[in-house]
Amino acid sequence: MLKIRTDAEKWRYIIAVSAMATVLSVLLTWVLLGDNLTVDMLRAAILGPLLIAPPACLMSARRSLEIYRLNQRLEHLLAHDQMTNLLTRSHFMRQMHEMESDFRGSFLMLDIDLFKKVNDTYGHLVGDEVIRQVAGVIQDHVRRDGLAARYGGEEFVVCLPQQDMEEAVKRAEEIRQAVERKTVKVSGANLGCTISIGLGYADGRKTVEEVLKRADEALYAAKKQGRNRVSLPRQEAA
Ligand code: GH3
Ligand code: MG
Ligand code: MG
Repeated sequence: MLKIRTDAEKWRYIIAVSAMATVLSVLLTWVLLGDNLTVDMLRAAILGPLLIAPPACLMSARRSLEIYRLNQRLEHLLAHDQMTNLLTRSHFMRQMHEMESDFRGSFLMLDIDLFKKVNDTYGHLVGDEVIRQVAGVIQDHVRRDGLAARYGGEEFVVCLPQQDMEEAVKRAEEIRQAVERKTVKVSGANLGCTISIGLGYADGRKTVEEVLKRADEALYAAKKQGRNRVSLPRQEAA
C-alpha cells in the first residue's frame, strides 16, 4: 500500500510516477507505431501522461499523507493521557516490556501529597490543574533521557534508563524541589503542593513489576516518614 509520510515524499512520488508514465507512454507508442511514429503522435504520447498523471498522483498522495497523519494522531492519542499529555500507564508498561530482559535503570513512583484536601478545598477543576502542573514539571525534567507516565489519578511513574540509584536520587530531588517551588493561581491566591517519591532500581535481573513494587513500597515509606521527600527501597537504603 502507498505510504507517504511527508510533503517532500509526496512531491517525489508525483514527479517519479509522472516521469515513469511519460517514459512508458513514449515507449509504448514507439513500439506500437514503429516507423509510422510522427512528431504529433510523439507529442501526444508525452503530453497525455504529463497532463493526467500529476493531478491524479497529487490526489492519491494527498489522501495517503492524510491517512498517515491521522494514524499518527490516533497512535499519539492512544499512547498519551489526555489531561497531562504524559504517556498512559498501559503504553508505558508496553514500552517497558519491550525492553531487553537485562534492562538496567531507575524507576520513580511519584504521588502528590494530601491531594484529597486540594479537591475538597478548591474543587476538582483546580485539582485537575494541579495534576497538569505537576505532570509538566515531571516531563520537563525527564524529557531528554527518560519516560514519564500518568500511573493513576495523581500518581506518576518515571523510567530513567541507564541511571543508577545515586543519579536517580539526584533527579528525584530536583523534581521534588521543582514541584515544591511551583504554584497554581487560584482566585488570586497562590496554591502550592508537594510530592513524595519512591525509587526502584532495575539491575538486569528483576522484572519491571518487581521494581515498580519496590518503588511503590518506597513511596509508601516516604508518605509515612512525613511526605515531601524521596525514599529508597529497603535494601538500597543506607
Ligand atoms: P497522600 O499524601 O497519602 O497521597 O494523600 P492524598 O490525599 O493524595 O491521598 P490519595 O493519593 O489516596 O488521594 C488521591 C485523590 O486524588 C483521590 C481522588 O479523588 C483524586 N483524584 C484522582 N484522579 C483525579 C483527577 O483526575 N482529578 C482530580 N481533581 N482528582 C483526582
Ligand atoms: Mg496522593
Ligand atoms: Mg495516590
